[in-house]
Amino acid sequence: MVYGEQAKTFDIIIIGAGSIGVPSAYYMSKAGFDVLVIDQLPSVGQSSNKHAIGGIRATHSEPAKIHLGKRSLEAFSSWEALHGEDIEWHQGGYSFVAYTRENAALLQDLVTWQQQNNLNITWLDHQDLLEIIPNINPVKLLGGTFSPEDGSASPLKAAFSFHKMAVQAGAVFHFNETVLDLISNGSRITGVITDRARYTCRWVINAAGGWAKQLCSQVGLSVPVEHDSHEAAITEPIARIFEPMIVDMRARPGSTNFYFYQHPTGKIIFCMTPEPPIYGNHTIASSEFLPIAARRLIEIMPVLKHIRVRRVWRGIYPMTPDGSPIIGEVDGLDGFLLAVGMCGQGFMFGPGVGELLTHVVLNELDDADKIILESLTFHRNFETAERLK
Ligand SMILES: Cc1cc2nc3c(=O)[nH]c(=O)nc-3n(C[C@H](O)[C@H](O)[C@H](O)COP(=O)(O)OP(=O)(O)OC[C@H]3O[C@@H](n4cnc5c(N)ncnc54)[C@H](O)[C@@H]3O)c2cc1C
Repeated sequence: MVYGEQAKTFDIIIIGAGSIGVPSAYYMSKAGFDVLVIDQLPSVGQSSNKHAIGGIRATHSEPAKIHLGKRSLEAFSSWEALHGEDIEWHQGGYSFVAYTRENAALLQDLVTWQQQNNLNITWLDHQDLLEIIPNINPVKLLGGTFSPEDGSASPLKAAFSFHKMAVQAGAVFHFNETVLDLISNGSRITGVITDRARYTCRWVINAAGGWAKQLCSQVGLSVPVEHDSHEAAITEPIARIFEPMIVDMRARPGSTNFYFYQHPTGKIIFCMTPEPPIYGNHTIASSEFLPIAARRLIEIMPVLKHIRVRRVWRGIYPMTPDGSPIIGEVDGLDGFLLAVGMCGQGFMFGPGVGELLTHVVLNELDDADKIILESLTFHRNFETAERLK
């Protein structure tokens, strides 16, 4: 089909088959909508989604993220039982560890607030934490949080499985097709133009990850989402020696934090936030990452000093100024939904965002939906970051 021919019509068009677009397609097609998902790449989850290390938690420090995280955790943890599909869900928990008085005070204060917000999280002192993570470096260890219901899953397996279930529910996926422009009629977005065809619909959802800003600029919308590169590595497998995702919030030369966990296959996966940040969308791993990250791994778990690293990679956080996603409608643009700027948490928020967007389209918002939409609106000032940014 070429431009000018009659457009194909759907209820909903989702731009992007990534961490957000694929689960959203599942929830929306299950709710009875005709859904088309368009991605410029050859299959699902081939951009930021497959670069994520798979961490999933509800234990955030901001109510909107707690609601999204809880919904997603429920979806990931029950997925295999409901659908018979293995997405490598592993409920190992999360532990933010403290080696400084400042971090211990911040985390203890936060745990009190998180418990008041019905999260299953506790503060463990030095000795109790060593019982959960026997190989963690005990020198100057003050303690840490432990949230046993958090966990991890495979971003690629999850994307493939959400895709399969979305297709079974009737969703249509077009790969190797790029959305070039949005069609508008006055203040309403009515469809999209791609390099292959023209489609009309009732709702367009921008779930284009690192490319969200570019698409929004087509309709004069300035969305603050930038490419922010992060790198990760995976080792050879060893017998299981610890369960939780361990987060070390200390800054070290070249990084502002460090986190790692042991995958169900026994491999250790680790990641850090580089300092200074590396902006841009190149995905070739740098030579700086591994020497910095490997030192941090050995510092916090010295027993790993002889483990061999198998692979490093680099991917994109679609980053906003305050470190929180942008979700919901835009004043003055009907029929257009943003689900962008997922920063370092888009994989763990995918199912939660999918459910939320479905409620928006159905016009059936519950109290949690309203809290999320108010907090993560495009119309906020982007000046306040959550305490655990
Ligand atoms: C090293 C690393 C570790 C991470 N670890 C975690 C983690 O442990 N937990 C977690 O939750 N998150 C993690 N993340 C973050 C996570 O990967 C992202 O937040 C998430 O993948 C973003 O999802 P998305 O759907 O917005 O973007 P994507 O998954 O990138 O999907 C966007 C899709 O839109 C498509 N697209 C864009 N423009 C167009 C267009 N014009 N036409 C057609 N298609 C288009 C792209 O091809 C892409 O497939 C990590 C990221 C990195 C780099």
